[in-house]
Amino acid sequence: MNFQITTLPGDGIGPEIVKEGIKVMKAAEKIVSGFTLDFQHFDAGAGHYVKTGNVFPDSSYKACQESHAIFLGSMGIPEVVEKDGTEVQGQVILRLRFELDLFAGVRPIRLYPGVKTPLENKQDIDFVIVRENTEGLFSSFRGGSEIVNEVVADTMMISRKGTEKITDYAFQLAEKRQGRVLDGKKIVTCCDKSNVFKSLAFFRKVYDEIAEKYEGAVGKDYAYMDAMTLWMVQKPQHYDVIVSENMFGDILSDLAAALVGGMGMAPSGDIGYRHAMFQPAHGSAPTIAGKGIANPVATILSGSMMLKWLADQHQHQEAREAARLIEKAVAATLGQGIQTSDLGGTYTTADFGHAVVSQMEKISV
Ligand code: ATP
Repeated sequence: MNFQITTLPGDGIGPEIVKEGIKVMKAAEKIVSGFTLDFQHFDAGAGHYVKTGNVFPDSSYKACQESHAIFLGSMGIPEVVEKDGTEVQGQVILRLRFELDLFAGVRPIRLYPGVKTPLENKQDIDFVIVRENTEGLFSSFRGGSEIVNEVVADTMMISRKGTEKITDYAFQLAEKRQGRVLDGKKIVTCCDKSNVFKSLAFFRKVYDEIAEKYEGAVGKDYAYMDAMTLWMVQKPQHYDVIVSENMFGDILSDLAAALVGGMGMAPSGDIGYRHAMFQPAHGSAPTIAGKGIANPVATILSGSMMLKWLADQHQHQEAREAARLIEKAVAATLGQGIQTSDLGGTYTTADFGHAVVSQMEKISV
């Protein structure tokens, strides 16, 4: 099978890390065989906006709609903003999430061998944040209410359907996983602020209704968002799948990434029923762009997530094998101390990518 992948390299470190992601996936295609990946690059992002006045050309959007999956680097240049001060790249990333209904923001958090955690508790860390991607506080994007230059408001929107979809996705994911590090128990933690906000009390109510379907298979658990930031640091082994509203999921993802080596270690998938987009959870890191030192792990692992998703969508065993091979090779490479400078190593972005490819070749023989 030939998978058509729309690639949006974007801004800052985007093009550098996408290059390594593609290098590794093309190597996996060659080693495993049985499928091909056709990466087609399209323009979008803040840099394109500066050049042309258009942040997301129609041809790029159409390609995203029509391909099997989207592979994105990172977008944004801090000084390229709208009149209201918001950065322009939301018109790409949020538009894709909203219009292609990529409702599940899936962010696996795993501590890889050889990578340092800032925590004193050195046990394994392995959980997934499932962030609702299309509503919550982000539903106000390019909307909100304003009394010009005096009062501005964004609104938290929680729908029954959106909450059913995201909580059901979280329970299904927990069913497939091995359970939490602490005791292997499969569990979905509902992270909200239901003690204060009506909208989030409703989120929890719908979560409870969905949880009933999984009684006996996957356990329930609750955390208020503020307490969650404390517990995630103190006892990350207690978590398996965490489901939350859009903005809370955004914030928690960065905190969680810090536990496993930083933003360069955090892959993500924006997943819907028909479409999906894969990108590192981090932004365009403009201060290190063009230096060849960005950590490509998050992007490479996002590529592995993409292959897994394609495998599930198309019942394609070889794509699944390729995904596993990439993940194993990344773990082995990091475990040998081959790491970029953000992790304390000396490898460049390109050398790290090359080392992962060599490791895949070794594993496969
Ligand atoms: P956004 O709001 O677009 O997600 P951000 O403001 O959270 O972006 P990032 O671009 O994610 O910022 O960067 C946060 C920090 O992590 C910066 O110090 C950046 O240099 C660092 N960082 C992000 N990605 C990487 C990477 N791949 N390799 C090394 N450092 C990174």
